Amino acid sequence: MGNDISVTLISDPAYSKHDTGGGEHPEIPERLQVIADALQESPLQPFLKSMSPRPATRSQLLVFHTEGWLFRFEEAVLKGKTYIDHPDNQVGYESYDIATLSAGAGLVGVDKVEADSGTVVFGLNRPPGHHAEPNMPFGFCFFNNCVIAARYWQEQYHRKRICILDFDAHHGNGIQTAFEEDPDAAYISIHEHPSFSYPGTGWPEENGLGAGKGTLLNLPLLPGAGDEQVRETFAAIVSFLERFQPEALIVGAGFDAHVDDDMSGLAFSTDIYLELGMFVAELAHTFTQGRLLSLLEGGYNIEKLGSCAALFLQGIVRYRQEHNPGL
Ligand SMILES: [Zn+2]
Repeated sequence: MGNDISVTLISDPAYSKHDTGGGEHPEIPERLQVIADALQESPLQPFLKSMSPRPATRSQLLVFHTEGWLFRFEEAVLKGKTYIDHPDNQVGYESYDIATLSAGAGLVGVDKVEADSGTVVFGLNRPPGHHAEPNMPFGFCFFNNCVIAARYWQEQYHRKRICILDFDAHHGNGIQTAFEEDPDAAYISIHEHPSFSYPGTGWPEENGLGAGKGTLLNLPLLPGAGDEQVRETFAAIVSFLERFQPEALIVGAGFDAHVDDDMSGLAFSTDIYLELGMFVAELAHTFTQGRLLSLLEGGYNIEKLGSCAALFLQGIVRYRQEHNPGL
C-alpha cells in the first residue's frame, strides 16, 4: 500500500450524544465506535485520517426540509420530548444540534473530495438520513444527510449531475422524494422488496416523475437474497449511469442487509461489502473522475457492523490501488 493512500473519516464525539433512549432502540452510539475500532484493527489503520464536521446552516437544511419541520424539531427537543411523531424517532435535548452536525459531515466530505480526490472520504455520522422527508422525521432519520450533501455539491461546486447510490437494506424514501422530479439528480437503491420491508416504497416501477422520469433506479431484492443477487444488480447500475452521466457520486452506505442484522430479511455476507466498495470505486473512476463520498446510513448488528464498514472502505482502496499505478 503506497503512502499516498488515505482514508478520511468525518466524525465528532458529539454524535454519541444523540440519545435514543437506552432501551431497545437499535440506533445507538456504539454503532460508530465499532466501526472506528474495526478500522483501527484493519489494514487501513496506517492510512486513517480524521476530520471534524461543521453544522449545516439553516439555509443548507432548507434546500430539502421545510421551515415548519426545523421549528417543530427544535421545539420538541427543547420541550424535553423523547420522540417525534413515532417512537422510532427518539430524541434527547441535544438531538437537533447533533442532527445538524450529522448533515454537516456530508458538507465537509464534499469539500474534502473536491480538495483531494485521492483520499477515500467516509462520514462516520449519526443520526442517519435517508428516510427523512421534507416536513417530518422517519425511521430514525431527522435530516436527509445525503440529499443535503448532494444539493451542496451542485450549488457550491457546480457539479450539476449528481447520483446517490444507496445499498442500505431499506429504501431511502426521502432521497426519492427529493429527486423524483429532478432531471439532474439520480437515485439508485438496492433494498429489500417493499412488500416485505419498511418503509414500503421503492417498487421497480417508481422510476421518476415528469422531468425526472428515468432518474430513479429501484432494485428491490426478495427476502433471503444474498451476494449473488447483489452482483446481478451491477450491470443495470452501470447501464443506468451510462445514460445518466453523473459528475459526482454519493454512497448511502448502510450495512443492515447483512445476514445477521435483524433489521432486514436480506442475507448479504460480510465479504460482499468489499465487492461493493470496489464496485462504487469503479463507478466513480468510470463516470465521475473519482469524485466519491460515502455517508453512513443504517447497520445495527454491533458484532458485524464494524467489519462490514471496514471492508467496504478497503474495497474502495483496493480498486484505487489497482487502477492508479502512481499509488
Ligand atoms: Zn436501513
